[in-house]
Amino acid sequence: MSITETASSPASTSEAPVIGHWIDGAHRASTSGRTAPVYNPATGAVQAEVALADQAEIDAAIASAHAGFQVWSGYSIAKRQTVLFAFRELLNSRKGELAHIITAEHGKVVSDAMGEILRGQEVVELATGFPHLIKGAYSENASSGVDVYSVKQPLGVVGIISPFNFPAMVPMWFFPIAIAAGNAVVLKPSEKDPSAALWLAELWREAGLPDGVFTVLQGDKLAVDGLLTSPLVQSISFVGSTPIAQYIYETASKHGKRVQALGGAKNHMLVLPDADLDLVADSAVNAGYGAAGERCMAISVVLAVEPVADELIAKISERIATLKIGNGAGVDTADGTVEPDMGPLITAVHRDKVASYVDIAEADGATVVVDGRGLTVDGHEDGFFFGPTLLDNVPTTSRAYTEEIFGPVLSIVRVESYDEGLDLINSGQFGNGTAIFTNDGGAARRFQNEVQVGMIGINVPIPVPVAYHSFGGWKQSLFGDAKAYGVHGFDFFTREKAITSRWLDPAKRGDSANTGINL
Ligand code: NAD
Repeated sequence: MSITETASSPASTSEAPVIGHWIDGAHRASTSGRTAPVYNPATGAVQAEVALADQAEIDAAIASAHAGFQVWSGYSIAKRQTVLFAFRELLNSRKGELAHIITAEHGKVVSDAMGEILRGQEVVELATGFPHLIKGAYSENASSGVDVYSVKQPLGVVGIISPFNFPAMVPMWFFPIAIAAGNAVVLKPSEKDPSAALWLAELWREAGLPDGVFTVLQGDKLAVDGLLTSPLVQSISFVGSTPIAQYIYETASKHGKRVQALGGAKNHMLVLPDADLDLVADSAVNAGYGAAGERCMAISVVLAVEPVADELIAKISERIATLKIGNGAGVDTADGTVEPDMGPLITAVHRDKVASYVDIAEADGATVVVDGRGLTVDGHEDGFFFGPTLLDNVPTTSRAYTEEIFGPVLSIVRVESYDEGLDLINSGQFGNGTAIFTNDGGAARRFQNEVQVGMIGINVPIPVPVAYHSFGGWKQSLFGDAKAYGVHGFDFFTREKAITSRWLDPAKRGDSANTGINL
């Protein structure tokens, strides 16, 4: 990925609707004259164009958020909490609508879209309890007659820049907490699936959030740079690929902002010889091929400690043969809608990139056990489908091993020992998630202590922490020291003030000699 602008059309020439911004609590059509296509990945058709903001629109969005902050930060905690609860109730009762919007633009199966909403909703629920999490501390009589206390205040306008793969969940990792803490949010969603953010904006309005507190700015690098450099924006929360995360971290830091920038991943599953191989095979298939591998916590490498590799490959292959690939929206039958196991990839360009990694692995000497290249789905011949792919004996020098593929490609690397597996995990550039499968508690305990990764599963393939623990990786998977949500989230979206105060005893006022205080 290079640091270049998104390919955009100078203006929309098709009949496709143009998806605009959400500014001042309402839809705002764009006048920038620049758009990018939004596909239905299952059919390959352009279903809409998304506006790409120009500088005037960026300025308008940030100014509106700044005004919204002045109002919202003055709301009492009780009033803010009422809005949060209303948002939670609306989301809970209407999340089915959002799941279909996600599937139409992203391609993932509807139940998986529902799954990402539920993980986001967990953070909304955590945020409803915000008074407890932003209350300060008080030390009475720290010195004679002197009290010291701290308060946590909101930052102001905060920017969120999100990736295509979780258009609802990733923004929800941040905005419920940011808003609960009294900030105003400008969200720049991925231009590949921009509609979920607008649906969420409408929900906030319905929940009673004042205008300007939640803004959606559609756009590409220009919009991102506008947020990174605006003096009115106090912090940036980014999730996306590592090169862009690094760029965001460096640029926003240079402009004096607080930054958390979550990057890419290459998550390994270490399988010890005593593991339950049926559980391992089920887990590898779910974690490798769910959401077509377009998850930052997907498992992409299985490190099989010999002698288990042959048996494990047979079990995984058996399961792959049963997977159904098709339109994530499902097919209507007399018995209701039947969902496939896996939908398409996000774009044709991304599908071809995934295929190129399989070509590289093969050229470097890997065995292609199951080949997903060239898959077509009946009735959806132009969709961006790529079949589940299983590679064996992938050389650890191959780019197919060292780089993130972000598709339904599972690589088996055979190792001779726990130590060899651990060394491979620890020598990688990423440190997002990892898992160990074993029945040996001592080995698992050693692993959790020795592995250089931020999120670890023990017989759990996708260890995404619950909302009250924080989410974040190590090394090239997270720039900055603040993870998403949990206590880290509340710390990130508030600034602490410590106050040292002395009040004279009214009985002795004016007579400092009698206060008992050493002046
Ligand atoms: P991406 O980096 O291409 O885009 C992310 C965001 O950055 C988008 O909003 C995009 O518009 C913007 N952007 C893209 N290029 C830019 C540029 N040159 N300058 C400024 N902004 C730019 O990522 P993606 O393809 O949308 O998402 C997939 C990536 O996200 C994968 O690498 C995946 O691992 C990662 N991801 C990481 C996590 C995590 O928690 N660590 C979670 C989800 C996704």
